[in-house]
Amino acid sequence: MVAENSADSKNDILLSTQEVIKEALDKLGYPNEAFELMKEPMRMITVRIPVRMDDGKTKVFTGYRAQHNDAIGPTKGGVRFHPNVTEKEVSALSIWMTLKSGIVDLPYGGGKGGIICDPREMSFRELEALSRGYVRALSQVVGPTKDIPAPDVFTNSQIMAWMMDEYSRIDEFNSPGFITGKPIVLGGSHGRESATAKGVTICIEEAAKKRGIDVKGARVIVQGFGNAGSFLAKFMHDMGAKVIAISDAEGALHDPDGLDIDYLLDRRDSFGTVTNLFDDTITNQEMLELDTDILVPAAVQNQITEENAHKIKADIVVEAANGPTTLEATKILTERGILLVPDVLASSGGVTVSYFEWVQNNQGYYWKEEEVQEKLREVLVRSFNNVYTTSQNRQIDMRLAAYMVGVRRATEAARYRGWI
Ligand code: NAD
Repeated sequence: MVAENSADSKNDILLSTQEVIKEALDKLGYPNEAFELMKEPMRMITVRIPVRMDDGKTKVFTGYRAQHNDAIGPTKGGVRFHPNVTEKEVSALSIWMTLKSGIVDLPYGGGKGGIICDPREMSFRELEALSRGYVRALSQVVGPTKDIPAPDVFTNSQIMAWMMDEYSRIDEFNSPGFITGKPIVLGGSHGRESATAKGVTICIEEAAKKRGIDVKGARVIVQGFGNAGSFLAKFMHDMGAKVIAISDAEGALHDPDGLDIDYLLDRRDSFGTVTNLFDDTITNQEMLELDTDILVPAAVQNQITEENAHKIKADIVVEAANGPTTLEATKILTERGILLVPDVLASSGGVTVSYFEWVQNNQGYYWKEEEVQEKLREVLVRSFNNVYTTSQNRQIDMRLAAYMVGVRRATEAARYRGWI
């Protein structure tokens, strides 16, 4: 649902990513050759995956894997299963993974994968065959020290388990470090499932401190009630914040006194839909413009644009989703004094705990939940403050500051290696 097909260059995810990368590299004083290296993945692989479907016919799926930059270490990033996956989207998302890894200081470059398919219309057996076929097609270029996949839109720990098993068979060696987001019993990490929302929560706490807002009692709006949005709404609710609105693809629910999040979590379906059970809904657009302290877009791209940015009433906007705010809207929000915590920082909790999972697999020693949470907090607080200080010192918006912090490490590594 996050896929991007728009021909409109303003909404072109790769072009807008390249625009900010260029600005960040220029500000850091790197020559144009650094931009030439960073503007696209170093390697983009297209694979065709034949799958025998349940009706006995073979269907051939197209998949991609982008490896943006491996100057720092192996590339890392999720694999999404979605009908709207495009090569361009996968490219842009792999660049974002380099940025996220740079911001939270992980020894990875960025990677991303995707398969054009609709998992909602596929059986369990077909999904397994597709997952295994993808790994067979890519087995020579991925691996625990080359490129490490993870879950993303419409992929989950079961799919990671099939992929890990397939790789381990090809490799003739049990290779849990090949992939992250696995079930705990196969070497997954505690805290991985909720890691993105936990990271967003830590960013909200840090941003609230900067704005003198007490999270306890603060009004919060969460757009999207899927994996990221529902965990986040629950964390906010448990911290004593008042979640006054949530939404899904069908609409939004609003209660100025605070919604009963536990009840809504209980009633939502596996695709994160709950508002269809109620009559008195408002639209997503109406919800975004409600008066609130904290607004968290956790659904899809291009939700805050130059059309509605001047109507946003939140003090803090924290991007749990990838790309919910356009570059024009970023400028408008920043000029209006709204603190925008960009996606590449706010949603980096997932890759951080993926890294913890990989470390635990490599050392064969597993951490308790509390240890994971403590380490995640330490990483996110440091990273938030690093980006915030850069933004304050240079008088630039938080997105550009995050890109500067994120792109710098990979570029430095490439320079030391003699690539530029
Ligand atoms: P999900 O599929 O679990 O849930 C998506 C939610 O958004 C659902 O509630 C759906 O109904 C809603 N939605 C879909 N279209 C919508 C629309 N047009 N308007 C409003 N709501 C809509 O997805 P997720 O894993 O929660 O991911 C959400 C966002 O967070 C994505 O941008 C994703 O890339 C980003 N993200 C997620 C993770 C993660 O670990 N889950 C990590 C990093 C980034």
